[in-house]
Parts: sequence; C-alpha cells; structure tokens
Amino acid sequence: MVDNFDQDQNVLTEDGRVVVTQAYCHNGHDLINNDVKVSGYPSINLLLSDGKSEQLVYISAIQGDNSKKFDTTYPEHTLLTVMCPVCKEELDNIAPCDCVKGSKFVAIYLNKKRNFSSCVGICNSWNCSRSFMGSAWRIISRLADKNS
Ligand SMILES: [Zn+2]
Ligand SMILES: [Zn+2]
Repeated sequence: MVDNFDQDQNVLTEDGRVVVTQAYCHNGHDLINNDVKVSGYPSINLLLSDGKSEQLVYISAIQGDNSKKFDTTYPEHTLLTVMCPVCKEELDNIAPCDCVKGSKFVAIYLNKKRNFSSCVGICNSWNCSRSFMGSAWRIISRLADKNS
C-alpha cells in the first residue's frame, strides 16, 4: 500500500490562501463533505452541541474564511461542543482561545496520524473567527508570547 496522505494535502485559492482538502477526526473519520460546498470548495462537516440540541454545521475549508452553513444560530460566543459527525466524540483540545473565557481550539487533523503538527485548530466559541493551521511548535511559541 502506498501512503499518499502527505501528498497534495492542500490547494491554494487564487489569492494564495490554503484550502484544506483532507480533514479527519482523531479516530480517522473523513470530515470533508464534497456535496455541500462553502465558498466554492467542499466543506468540513462537524457536529455541534450547545448542551441542549445538536446540529450539523458545514464550515469553509479555506484558511481564514469564517463562512459556514447551518440551520440554527446560537447567541454570539456560545461555547459549543465540537464533535465528529461519525463517531460523535468531541474533537481533541489543542489550546485555549483568548476570545471568551472557557473557549478553546479543537483539532481537525489533516491526515490520519493524530499529530498536532498537521492540524487545523478552530475555536469552539460561536462566531469566533480565530483559527489556525499549525504545528505544535507554533502553538507553544504563541502561548509563550502571551505570558511574557
Ligand atoms: Zn470520528
Ligand atoms: Zn475563540
């Protein structure tokens, strides 16, 4: 078997932003939905819960693009549980976000290896626009910057 996971992972938009073309939960389930397009590209499918009800949300796969498709909106900055729609397990917690108290980045992996060095972090606070693509080292240096 040939391991192709590290090849052709991402494509670039016309203005040079990264588009995620492979996305997995920590159990290796494919989160890319080719049928639902957001901002012209296949979306990343997530299951969200506010503790009362659950809904499927399709977020843009373009770096820095906050577009998404959903049925029900939440109050601004509601802290949500972000889950894989297949295994319904909460995604891995990477680091706190500084938008509101208790918010955190969760990991969308770019391959099935469950390695923070190739993941996208998204904040679990509704309408928080912060996200990053990153390596664990960048996350650590970011946290170190804040404390100094
Ligand atoms: Zn899963
Ligand atoms: Zn946030």
